Amino acid sequence: MANCLQCGKILIGRADKKYCDADCRSTYNNQLNRSQNNLVRQINRILGRNRRILKSLNPTGKTRVHRKTLLKAKFDFNYFTNIYKTQKGHIYYFCYDQGYILLENDYCALVERQDYVQ
Ligand SMILES: [Zn+2]
Repeated sequence: MANCLQCGKILIGRADKKYCDADCRSTYNNQLNRSQNNLVRQINRILGRNRRILKSLNPTGKTRVHRKTLLKAKFDFNYFTNIYKTQKGHIYYFCYDQGYILLENDYCALVERQDYVQ
């Protein structure tokens, strides 16, 4: 026997039934969508913040900062929009048009990608 995914009541009827009725189904799906939208919004916020941090530390389009400076500004190294690997195998991490590459001694070189949307 199965229970309604929304309210937990025991379901009577078809074996593949998941909800008591249309109300329970739509409530369940609305909540699911809401939490998925929240997740997307949360990640978008992190990516946007990362981009702003990179841009604010890199007004000239090319600079070097210590990793700690980024962390202090609440940069989150787990989130980026894409990576770019050079022929030599160096990896740039981008948050939209703003990117960085890890250097020795915990420094990062910040770069701006002018041709990003090509
Ligand atoms: Zn129900």
